[in-house]
Parts: sequence; structure tokens; C-alpha cells
Amino acid sequence: AHLDRIAEVDGAVHAFLHVDAADTLAQAGAVDAARAAGTPLHHLAGVPIAVKDVVVTRGTPTTAGSRILEGWIPPYDATLVEKLRAAGLPMLGKTNMDEFAMGSSTEHSGYGPTHNPWDLTRIPGGSGGGSAAALAAFEAPLSIGTDTGGSIRQPAAVTGTVGVKPTYGSVSRYGLIALASSLDQAGPCARTVLDAALLHEVIGGHDPRDSTSLPQAATGYADAARLGGTGDLTGVRVGVVRELAGEGYQREVSEAFARSVRDLEAAGAEVVEVSCPSFEAALAAYYLILPAEASSNLAKFDGMRFGLRVEPTEGPVTAERVMAATRGQGFGAEVKRRIILGTYALSAGYYDAYYGSAQKVRTLIQRDFAAAYEKVDVLVSPTAPTTAFKLGEKLDDPLAMYLNDVATIPANLAGVPGISVPNGLDDAGLPIGIQVLAPARADDRLYRVGAALE
Ligand code: GLN
Repeated sequence: AHLDRIAEVDGAVHAFLHVDAADTLAQAGAVDAARAAGTPLHHLAGVPIAVKDVVVTRGTPTTAGSRILEGWIPPYDATLVEKLRAAGLPMLGKTNMDEFAMGSSTEHSGYGPTHNPWDLTRIPGGSGGGSAAALAAFEAPLSIGTDTGGSIRQPAAVTGTVGVKPTYGSVSRYGLIALASSLDQAGPCARTVLDAALLHEVIGGHDPRDSTSLPQAATGYADAARLGGTGDLTGVRVGVVRELAGEGYQREVSEAFARSVRDLEAAGAEVVEVSCPSFEAALAAYYLILPAEASSNLAKFDGMRFGLRVEPTEGPVTAERVMAATRGQGFGAEVKRRIILGTYALSAGYYDAYYGSAQKVRTLIQRDFAAAYEKVDVLVSPTAPTTAFKLGEKLDDPLAMYLNDVATIPANLAGVPGISVPNGLDDAGLPIGIQVLAPARADDRLYRVGAALE
């Protein structure tokens, strides 16, 4: 049914970069055969899933939304893909994304944008717009995203779906094409909080192949979602982050947020305002740390190891000139912008002034979170400042694009988990999101409070 739906609507939505119906049906058939043979199966066995194209999949093309990886077929599976296969979730295909996960609209994909199913003239968020749009268009019941600065949560907000960025290290990064290794985190995307929790339990847990993987089992999330589903939050202390509200937020986004805060109180939660002053500098710090790490991570795309190789049209064919021709043609404008920015921030004369200062801000943000979590169990804010904007509206204005991430970025800089849950519609009928943040390793609280907000 989902393959049929993809065939019907994906020409207009363009959530997918790659679908192999025969492969999906073979995987589903294997689950059916195992079920018929009486083999004990995982409770999600047979539920199909879409996977963001930044996650490597053995035998299935993986591009990270970049032309430089066109035609590359990975020889191995990411750990999270191994886990999906072991649990029997057939893969529907790979979803569209901003090139190397840089962006907030999926317009930076090397393969054309994804359209928001709520209004095809609008963006589905980014970088994981494909994974979110696939859910909103009912092309997939579950999907996988990655969130380095909001790429799971912001697309969820603008497509009326649920997206979770787990605690840094709680889902293995082995087999993710790295953007910024200290910020990257894969997580579940779904249409309900309970679905996301069930998927998180499949993909989470310790992985010896990822040196930053936490030695912690991924359990208790679905139970927390069921508990939250009762609507009772007695005893839960909720902090409203002063710096993530007010100016710069669309009126309906602020109004819906205020309504939900009152709902939390009505559900028995104790709501207080907290201040996290360093959050004001989070965006600036992120847009130095991320390009710095990305410029280093992307150095491996050199025209020799993976995908595209372009030889210079004239002059000698040296390694350096092949590299320059390949990168010049294979990378899009946003990727080049960030490589240049990151290389500059890391250069000897400017390292302390830019990268060093950004790292200090990162520590201050972590301290703001720690201080807040002494007073409250979770923090709440709008997920994104606005609902889905028009395709093309911010494409030529990188700063306007970066501002979408103002509320999602602090969590990545501190490694703490966050969820975006649908929070009503604006006057134009477009979805709004609300974000819940919890302390590191307390992802269960996202599911409890998230489910209560549903
Ligand atoms: N919009 C952010 C950026 O462009 C988010 C990236 C992400 O989470 N992958 O960096």
C-alpha cells in the first residue's frame, strides 16, 4: 500500500531519492514467510520505513543529497540499518535532504527540492525534509532522520509530524555520512509520539563501532509515551525558556505555544520560566563549529575514493587538479560556502578568535542547561520561529535560512535530547510544532511530556 502511495504522490512531493519496490517487497516477503513459519518476530516486523539518504545502506545508492556521491553504492550498512533489518522493518527507500544535511528547507539537495504535502508550494523543512514529507504524505508510517542542528525537529514541526533528536551518543553514528561529528545524531520520525518511541527502541543502544556511543540500553520510551498518553503530568516540572520565545516568532506560533503551556499546567505540571542567557549566542557558535567540523569531514570527497570523478578539461591531470575539478562540480553552493567558512575559522591566525570562542560559548550553553535542569525536569519552546515558508523565499539569504534553527541548535551544542510534536495550525492552515527538551539520557521524559501534548 505504501509503495502504491509513493507511486501516486511522490512525483509531486519528491520525498524519495531512491525506491526499489522489488527490494522492499522481497524484504516484506521474508517477514511474511518467517511469520508463517512461526518464527518469533519483533513487534514492528513488517512495518515499512523510509531512511534519510545520509545513512549508508549496503547495495542501495546513498548520496547524502549530493551530486558528488551520485552512483555510489555503499559496501556496508549503518548500525541503525542493521538494527532495522534485524527487527524486520522493510526499507521503502532513501529520502531527499539538503546536500550533506546543510540546510533548513531541502532546497539545497543536489536532486531538486521536496515539497511540503500540506502545500506543495512550500518547503518541508530541512535538512530531513524528505523523511518528514514522506510521513505527512502517508508514503511511509515511519522514517529515520539525522539532527545536527534541528534537521529532525524542524521538518517535523513544519509538516505536522513527530521528530526526535535523541541524547548524543544514544543512537549509533556508525554508517552516517558525517556532517559535524560532535553534533550529529540520528533519530526516529513518525506520525505519533508512541510510534517514534517504538522506533527509538529499535535503533538505539550501545555500539562498540561508534566511540561516542553511550553504554545505555534503549528501553522504556514506549512505556513513557503510554504514561504521557494518560494526560496526567502531576509532579512534572516544566521550564519555559525565556530566550526561545517572544520576538521573531510568528504570532500563531507564539499563541499556540502559550495555549500548550496552559494545557501542561492543566495536566498537573508545574510550569516556571527559566532563563538561559547564553542561548542568544548559540546560532553564532553553531555556525562556526559546524562548518569547522564539516570542512574536515568533507575532505574525503576528493574524486578518488567515492562517487564522482572529474578530470580537468585542460592542463596536467594531477591529484590536486582532479580534486579541485571534482569538488568544484560536485558540491553545491551551500556546501562550498560552509567549507570556506570552516576552513577560515580553523586557520592558524583565526583559530582562537573564532573556533576557540565558539567552543567557549558551547560550554556556557551546557552550563545554562545544567542550571535549568536543577530546577525543572524538561524545557519547552516553539520548535521553529515560523510555519513552512514558500519554496525559494530564503534560498538566496543564508542568514535568514540559518535563523530557522534558533530554537533547535542549543540542544545539539549540549548533546541533550529533544522532540517536536504537532501543536495546531496557523491561520493559513499550516502545521506548528512545539519542542520539549530533556537532560542527557532522560529521553523517556520527551516521550512522556510529548505524548501528553498530543
Ligand atoms: N539547518 C541546520 C543546518 O543547516 C540543520 C542541519 C542538520 O541538523 N543537519 O546546519
